Formats: sequence, structure tokens, C-alpha cells
Amino acid sequence: MKFFRSKERKQSVQPVSWKITSSCLSMILESAKSVYPNEFIGLLRVEQKHPHTIYEIVLLPGTVSGNSHAMLQLHMRPFDLSIVGTIHSHPSGFYYPSSADRQLFQKYGRVHMIVGYPYLEKTWMAYDSWGNQIPMTVI
Ligand code: ZN
Repeated sequence: MKFFRSKERKQSVQPVSWKITSSCLSMILESAKSVYPNEFIGLLRVEQKHPHTIYEIVLLPGTVSGNSHAMLQLHMRPFDLSIVGTIHSHPSGFYYPSSADRQLFQKYGRVHMIVGYPYLEKTWMAYDSWGNQIPMTVI
């Protein structure tokens, strides 16, 4: 019991090293391409056994275009602990968070991704709740 408690404390202090499966990243990039020039938006889901490995995106109905940020806030409730954050695309190609993105990141989730047009393996970035860039490894 003691061992587990000290382990938990240690984990909460250390920075989390996020991972994403290459198949999930491909799915994100393909989805973003398929709705271009609209914005693609979804939620990031982790594996139960590997709580920092993103392996699936959860699509929200009716978020293909328009005010996706408003849609996300509507849908985003902590109903599912396997959902850790958000993913959206920037058709502009600029994959850094806007001030609206930062506000959204602070409200929900621990990890966020933005993919920029032309949606390649290198045109994306992961961010924490404050909009700071964080490393994410593709596995
Ligand atoms: Zn954005």
C-alpha cells in the first residue's frame, strides 16, 4: 500500500511522456485531409492499460465545419476517463494554438494536438493545458 502511494506521488511530479500510435496519427491526418478546407475536430482516447498512449480518436457528430470550439465545449464532459484531450486541424497550416484554443485547452483535457495543413507526419504538435508545446512520441 505504501509503495503504491509513493509511486503515485512520484508520477504526478514527473512530466508525463505522451505517446500516440502511428495508426492513430495516420487516422488523424487522413481525417483532416478528408474534411479540408473545413476544420477537423475530435477527442483523444488512451488505452486502459497504457494511460498515456493515445490510440483512438473519438469523433463528435456534427463537427465537420463551423464553430467547432463551441461544439467541443458542448460535448466535452468528463464522462469517459479514457478521453484525455482534444485534436483539431488548422487548415491555415499554422499549427500553434490560438487564444481561443488556449482557453479551450484550459477548460478540458490534459493533452491536445493541432495538425496543420497539408497534414503531414511533421506538421503537427502536442500541447499541454496551458498551450505549451510538449513532446509526443509516435509508436
Ligand atoms: Zn485552433
